[in-house]
Amino acid sequence: MNRARGESRAVGATVAELLASADLPPREAQILFSRAAGLSRIELITRDQTVPAEPVIAAFRELAARRRSGEPIAYLVGYREFYGHRFGVSPAVLIPRPETEHLVEEALKVLAPLVTPSVLDLGTGSGAIALALALARPDARVTAAERSTAALAVARANGVTLKGSVRWVESDWYEALSGARYDLIVSNPPYVALDDRHLQEGDLRFEPREALTDGSDGHGALGRIIRGAPAHLEPGGWLLLEHGFDQARAVRQALDEAGFDGVTTWKDLAGLDRVSGGFCGPCPGGL
Ligand code: GLN
Repeated sequence: MNRARGESRAVGATVAELLASADLPPREAQILFSRAAGLSRIELITRDQTVPAEPVIAAFRELAARRRSGEPIAYLVGYREFYGHRFGVSPAVLIPRPETEHLVEEALKVLAPLVTPSVLDLGTGSGAIALALALARPDARVTAAERSTAALAVARANGVTLKGSVRWVESDWYEALSGARYDLIVSNPPYVALDDRHLQEGDLRFEPREALTDGSDGHGALGRIIRGAPAHLEPGGWLLLEHGFDQARAVRQALDEAGFDGVTTWKDLAGLDRVSGGFCGPCPGGL
């Protein structure tokens, strides 16, 4: 059957017809229908010739309309996969990005030779980095700091669901952590410049502004984290930061100025500079 768009409003439209009428990429329509119907995507595919119940149709139409107006899929369904785990997300947190998995990978390499290492994740948001590390390294003592109370609630809930052992701390960067030192500090801070046009595009329009930009040139939070790190690292401790594709040089320079050794940049799968870091061996101001 080949129905024109809108015709599926007729009573008795099948799932397949309803999806085709949504004016969305097929995969997105499937994800949203699965959410509306409470079905897995496999269940959906096996039922696509059935006629859904009226409340399911209404719920799907609402989600589809919100998606057409730009709301991110992750907020509409309430989760996003990151490093093999499903993280609950809400508009209070940045949606975890695949490129941030590189930060987790490099962090795990730093942790590999250490027993019961201490780790700090600054600006944890949904808790994606902290929990990915805690789940991969159950012996690690992971602390995650976040300034936003609403974001921290999302992170805590993810900690419970994923059964990851993380100490959650409400803190503006290092503020509530005075005196504490770690073997590794990681962060995916807000590094987008305020005038970057990407903030006006796609998912970013719906994400928390303070998770994306420092409100200035994009180097403010990165600089603050770097300058504060020596006083919070154990001797030999590492700092690893995610940053924008064009920020590696400035980040490496800031790391050098703060006295870091072994300063290195790693690329993401797209070949873009994405993560930089170094270790305090020791840094001035460190131990
Ligand atoms: N990589 C993100 C983006 O531009 C930005 C995340 C961040 O600022 N930490 O989509």
